[in-house]
Amino acid sequence: MSEKKYELAVVGGGPGGYVAAIKAGQMGKDVLLIEKEAIGGTCLNWGCIPTKAFVRSAEVFADIKDASSFGINVDGAEVDFPKVVARKDKIVSRLVKGVEHLLEANNVDTAEGEASFVDKNHLSVKNSDGEKIIEAENIIIATGSQASNLPIPGADLDGILDSRTALSMEELPDSLIVVGGGIIGMEFAFIFNNFGVDVTVLEYLDQLVTGVDTEIAEELNKSARRRRITVKTGAEVEEIKKSDGEYEVIFSQKDKKKMVSGERVLMAVGRKPYHKGLNLDKVGVETEERRGGIIVDDYLRTNIDNIYAIGDVTDKILLAHVASHQGIIAVENIFAEKHKMNYDAVPGAIFTSPEVATVGLSEEEAAEKGIDYKVGRFPFAASGKVMAMGEREGKVKIIAEKNTEKVIGAAIIGIEATDLIAELTLAVNSGLKIEALAETIHAHPTTAEVIHEAALDMLGGAIHYKAR
Ligand code: FAD
Repeated sequence: MSEKKYELAVVGGGPGGYVAAIKAGQMGKDVLLIEKEAIGGTCLNWGCIPTKAFVRSAEVFADIKDASSFGINVDGAEVDFPKVVARKDKIVSRLVKGVEHLLEANNVDTAEGEASFVDKNHLSVKNSDGEKIIEAENIIIATGSQASNLPIPGADLDGILDSRTALSMEELPDSLIVVGGGIIGMEFAFIFNNFGVDVTVLEYLDQLVTGVDTEIAEELNKSARRRRITVKTGAEVEEIKKSDGEYEVIFSQKDKKKMVSGERVLMAVGRKPYHKGLNLDKVGVETEERRGGIIVDDYLRTNIDNIYAIGDVTDKILLAHVASHQGIIAVENIFAEKHKMNYDAVPGAIFTSPEVATVGLSEEEAAEKGIDYKVGRFPFAASGKVMAMGEREGKVKIIAEKNTEKVIGAAIIGIEATDLIAELTLAVNSGLKIEALAETIHAHPTTAEVIHEAALDMLGGAIHYKAR
C-alpha cells in the first residue's frame, strides 16, 4: 500500500489521461498517472503522430516524383523504408520525452504498470517488480481503445497487419490490400500509394470515410482512383487465405464472389473501447452493451460518484483532441466549476492526399434533423495559392442555417484542409453568422481564401469563380 493518498489517480497515459493529469497538476492537486505501456498512449506511439510522420515521408517522395512539373529535375529517388521508420521512431521518442518532462514539471507522479480496481478508492498496480496498492479520492479512467478484427476465417493469419504493426514493417511491400475504407484505412492507403505501393481498398459500406459529408467523401474516392488506388465499396470481406507467399482476400460485391491478392493485408475495420484487466465489475462501473464503452454523463461521471471516464473508452468520438478536451473538463468538474462536455463543434481531420476535414453537421445530418439550411461552396482549383502549390483538387463546403445564417457545419477536401478547418470550427463553436466569415479580410494569396469565397458564394456569389 502506498503511504500517500492521492486526490486524483488517472489510469492510462494517452492524450486523454496525460492531459487530465497535467491539468490537475496545474491546479496544485496531488495526482498520479498510471500507464502500463508507453506514456502518450495510442496517439503518440502508434496513432496520430507516427502515421503523420509516415504521411510526410510519403508526400516528400510523391513530390520528388512530380518535381519536373515544378521545373526541377531529380533522378533516381527511392524510398529507404528502414530510414522512414527510424525517422518516425525518433519523432515519437522526442514527443514522449516531452510529455514525460511536462508531467514532471507539473508535479504529476507516475507509476508504470497495469491498474485494476480493488474498490472505488483503491487500485492495484502490477508490473514486473510486483504489486502496489494506490489510494485515491477520485479516479479517471482513460484506458483508450483497441483495433477491432473481422470474425471471418483467416483474419488472424500470421503477418496480417494492423495499424500498429504497419508502422514497423521492415520493408515496403509491392502490393497492399487495405480492409476498411474508414479514416485509418484511407490514411494508410494514401501513405503507401505515395510510397509507390499498389494499393487496393475494400470497404463494406457504399461510401468511404463514412460519417463524412457524402459530396466530400465522393471527392476523396475520385482522388484515390486518380492516384490508381483500387477502391471497391460495397465489398464484404468473407475470408483471407495465404498461398504461395501471397494473401488472397475473398469478398462479395453485389452478390458476386470476388478475390484480390496482394503481398500484405492491413486490417483497418475500426476500433472499440478498451478496459480489459481493469476489473470494472468489482466497483460496478457500467458499460454500454453493444461496444463496451464506459457510460458517462455530460459531466464525464460514471455511475460511481468519484469515478470519471474520458477518451476512446467512453466511445463518444474516438479522436485525440476529444480525449484531451474531455480530460480537462473532467478535472475541472472534479475540482472546480462544473460544466458539460459539448460535442457540437468537434473538428475531424483525415490526412489523405488531398486532406479532408470536417466540423459540425454534414449536409445529410442537417437534412435529417429537418434544418432549413443553405450551402456555400468554392473549388480549390480557383485559388491562386493552390495553383502555385501545384495542386487543383478539392472544394470547401459550408452549411448555415437559413433563417439565422449561423454556420452549423463545414467539410473541406484539399491541400491544408486539416489546418483550414480551424476557422470554421471557431465559427461553429461560437455560433458565428456567415457574414462574419465574409466580412473578415483573408490574406492573399493563402489557401484560407477558399473559406472567404465559400462564404461569399452563400451570400450571393464568390468573386473568383462562376459555375458555367
Ligand atoms: P489511448 O491513447 O489509447 O491511451 C490509453 C492508454 O491507457 C494506453 O497507453 C494504454 O497502455 C493505457 N492503459 C490501458 N489500460 C490500462 C491499465 N489497466 N493500466 C494502465 N494503463 C492502461 N486521433 C486524432 O485525433 N488524430 C489523428 O490523426 C489520429 N490518427 C490515428 C491513427 C491511428 C493509426 C490510430 C490507431 C488512431 C488515431 N487517432 C487519431 C485516434 C487517437 O489515437 C485516439 O483517439 C486517442 O489516442 C485516444 O486517447 P485516449 O487517451 O483515450 O487513449
